[in-house]
Amino acid sequence: MIINERVTDYINFLDKELPENLLYLEKYALDNHVPIIKKETQGVLRFLLQLIKPIRILEVGTAIGFSALFMSEHTSSACKITTIEKVQMRLVEAIKNLSDERFTNRDKITLRQGDAIDVLKELVEDNLNYDFIFLDAAKGQYMTFLPELMKLLAPGGILVTDNVLQDGTVVNSRYSITRRDRTIHSRMREYLYTITHMPELETVILPVGDGIAISLKNH
Ligand code: SAH
Ligand code: MG
Repeated sequence: MIINERVTDYINFLDKELPENLLYLEKYALDNHVPIIKKETQGVLRFLLQLIKPIRILEVGTAIGFSALFMSEHTSSACKITTIEKVQMRLVEAIKNLSDERFTNRDKITLRQGDAIDVLKELVEDNLNYDFIFLDAAKGQYMTFLPELMKLLAPGGILVTDNVLQDGTVVNSRYSITRRDRTIHSRMREYLYTITHMPELETVILPVGDGIAISLKNH
């Protein structure tokens, strides 16, 4: 928790309730320790989707499909969502949820199975581009994904990156971080420094949920 818990609870209390189908999936994810987007992050995503009205969305990190289905509920009927997942255990559940009739907008979503770095390269080869990218996969790989994501992000498009503040520990000194977490700590700092200093991007970092970065690609 980055922000005072009571403040977060209050903001979440004010937020719109999820529709029943998503509420059920959210509860399932929380009960089974699937790291889905937090309530506060849902609010920001919903707001951005309604503001930008994207037509082509790319998500890196499907897990069990919660955020993809969430986005399918807050986009126009013309919108297509491509989402990438590599872990078999997650894929089994994602496939099940993405074909569940309770989610009436599920047809917008295409699941791509495989390691994101390979799938991203295929999407680049196919000359595809996206006006909204949601990056929510292995944090240590964000720097590796970035060059491909920059090719895939259309001018004027938005890149939203989740979990960038790592419960606030990203601000701690390298020496106070356990050895095990040092690599991820320095990689995330490098990623954040890069996206805030690239001339192609205008980036804001928000201490919402587990920390999100919102980057606009200049025309
Ligand atoms: N966006 C989801 C949560 C994603 S959790 C939601 O909010 O509902 C992160 C997911 O990214 C995990 O399921 C993990 O298996 C997947 N992942 C991590 N590294 C990956 C990679 N290199 N390629 C594809 N998927 C990856
Ligand atoms: Mg996340």
